[in-house]
Amino acid sequence: QAKLRNRGGHRFFEARMGADVRDRSLMERQLRDAVRNRELTLVYQPQLDVGSGNVTGFEALLRWTHPTRGSVAPDLFIPIAEESDLILPIGEWSMEQACRNAASWTCPLSVAVNVSAVQLHSADFVGRVERILAETGLDPKRLEIEITETALIRDPVRALSALQQLKAAGVSIVMDDFGTGYSSLSNLRSFPFDVIKIDRSFMSAADRNEQNAAIVRSVLGLGKGLAMRVVAEGVETAEELDFLRREGCHSAQGYLIGRPAAIEDYADLTGAADGAKERFSLAS
Ligand code: C2E
Ligand code: MG
Ligand code: MG
Ligand code: MG
Repeated sequence: QAKLRNRGGHRFFEARMGADVRDRSLMERQLRDAVRNRELTLVYQPQLDVGSGNVTGFEALLRWTHPTRGSVAPDLFIPIAEESDLILPIGEWSMEQACRNAASWTCPLSVAVNVSAVQLHSADFVGRVERILAETGLDPKRLEIEITETALIRDPVRALSALQQLKAAGVSIVMDDFGTGYSSLSNLRSFPFDVIKIDRSFMSAADRNEQNAAIVRSVLGLGKGLAMRVVAEGVETAEELDFLRREGCHSAQGYLIGRPAAIEDYADLTGAADGAKERFSLAS
């Protein structure tokens, strides 16, 4: 510590740190208000069954629009919500909203909700999910819970027990951002995952980039061997989707298929008019 102080430039470093810490605590206060002021919303991004070309479900994604900051990216505010435990009320709100919304659709499409480590390890997490399912009347088979590998390492025994209980209740468990964490393979064996979601960094130009192609192929092989469905996220081009179809990938999600948007924008898929489904039939 003393050594660091004697070095030149520390002041700049400290000033930057100070500004960063101040902004984080400001953002934490604003996030607290955001919950009360209803500044948080959920957007939904469709998932495509690659073989049939039908949309089979949606991933719910949080959006925060602050009155002066404007829209704040989840990658920025979710970590702050996690550090302050604000993720608990926020996460419960998202889960409740997503389930209530999905229960109102006339098509029984699935809904995937992201769950952070703090939530997964919180007291009575499973009980709360079960309560939400009961209250909203959503069939547990339509709910998917997306967790990243980092969510498992804090307390693997507790995480395993929570995931086993959810699975027993009929909920599907998705490993999100697969390939970016560590010890991925043993996690696939030790935890009751139903779905592997390949991180979008491996999708970029997977049709032309041999390294990405090899990684995607091997994850598909892994999914096949372990009887897990594989979802590719971040699919942006028709060539990437063609590649996935050739390689036998089950599901795809990405800007090509649909941007995250208000659920009203996808009313043609969630219920009502059948004809509009054609719009998303990218296969064949
Ligand atoms: P994620 O769960 O891996 O979500 C996928 C992210 O990829 C989303 O970013 C989505 O908008 C983006 N994406 C989808 N398709 C494409 C594409 O074709 N190209 C590109 N470049 N990006 C695409 P978003 O919405 O900014 O969310 C970022 C992360 O924040 C999520 O990553 C998730 O980890 C977290 N997050 C979002 N909503 C929630 C939530 O309700 N609860 C928790 N705990 N975390 C959330
Ligand atoms: Mg996700
Ligand atoms: Mg992901
Ligand atoms: Mg992510």
